[in-house]
Amino acid sequence: MGRDASAVMRRCEVLGSISDEPDRLTRPFASDAMRRAHEQVGAWMREAGMSQSRDNIGNLRGRYEGAGGATATLLLGSHLDSVRDAGRYDGPLGVLVAIAVVQGLHDRGIRLPYAVEVVAFADEEGLRYGTTYLGSKALAGTFDNADLDRTDAAGVTMAEAIRTFGGDPGRIAGDRWGGGDLLGYVEVHIEQGPVLEVRGVPVGVVSAIAGQSRYQMIFTGEAAHAGTTPMDLRKDALVAASVFVQSVADYADSQAGLVATVGQLAVQPGAANVVPGEVTLSLDIRHADDAVRIESAETLIDLASNIARHRGIALTAAGISENATVSSSPRLTSVLVQAVQDLGHPAVQLASGAGHDAVVMAGLTEIAMLFVRCKGGVSHNPAESVAEADVAVAIEVLDRFLELLAGES
Ligand SMILES: [Zn+2]
Repeated sequence: MGRDASAVMRRCEVLGSISDEPDRLTRPFASDAMRRAHEQVGAWMREAGMSQSRDNIGNLRGRYEGAGGATATLLLGSHLDSVRDAGRYDGPLGVLVAIAVVQGLHDRGIRLPYAVEVVAFADEEGLRYGTTYLGSKALAGTFDNADLDRTDAAGVTMAEAIRTFGGDPGRIAGDRWGGGDLLGYVEVHIEQGPVLEVRGVPVGVVSAIAGQSRYQMIFTGEAAHAGTTPMDLRKDALVAASVFVQSVADYADSQAGLVATVGQLAVQPGAANVVPGEVTLSLDIRHADDAVRIESAETLIDLASNIARHRGIALTAAGISENATVSSSPRLTSVLVQAVQDLGHPAVQLASGAGHDAVVMAGLTEIAMLFVRCKGGVSHNPAESVAEADVAVAIEVLDRFLELLAGES
């Protein structure tokens, strides 16, 4: 498997150089870079004995048929699009590990009692159209046709982009999985966090993908002259917001498994000599247990109300988005855990704080995920780094997983 891992590392490097921008990796949905990436990945799929196709949304799909009489399919995959100035592994690693495992089957002439289909999703990051998971939504049958009218920064509609890329925007409903029984969807992905590094293990099994609530909050006080308004007569929106920001961090610190973030803060009027009259901020709350997340959100909004009221400041809090926690399939996860242990590694289980295509695929079939340790937990950054030895473990684990699943089915 060492040879396979070095091939995967090399391929990550090749894809890392296929970009829409000269000096950094930026590969958006339906872009010219994506077309070139497809040529490359499609060739690797065919080399691994897969028949290769592309659907209307622009997912590249490679199918390795099962033994005669096999009717069910196991889906493996991840995404090929990237953020701006991305690292090489977020997305492509999962696609390339899956292809490497199929290559291994092909080389050994093995047919499983089920087909394996590797899906390289068209869009997970949402860079071009600001809406995420376009590829997995099409495959899961939850694509919203209203999104076709969205325009990118250059004014190109999504429908036009799909047409230019070779798809038919009127037929995305037909991209929904129609290939018969599914055994599940399994995704290999870099962890994008520091847990595996801290625990000193190469891979981890994802127990759940944490739910998320996002709010926009507006603290409205009163803008006033910074020189002439006495302290006791001010309604400083930023002071109230600052107290709230600190309270969010303190509260999240006190609750196991909770992460809460104020990532955006806009101060109005934003002048050095004016007491801030209005502050708009974002609040992002995540927890693997939906009940804890919902209760925490209520507590934090109450806290904000109290802080504002105490200072004579008005507060509005609007929910922007809410995603429930997606639990991994107990059946697939126990097979994955077994595969990790069979290879002599401790089966560390962890919740994912980041969203993945698996979230959307959970609407279609059972899901499981394997995380690969990444250096410093860094992602969405050119400094993203994984060790070849860890990639070798991921390949071995996925290979063993397919074997164990074959024994079950
Ligand atoms: Zn990703």
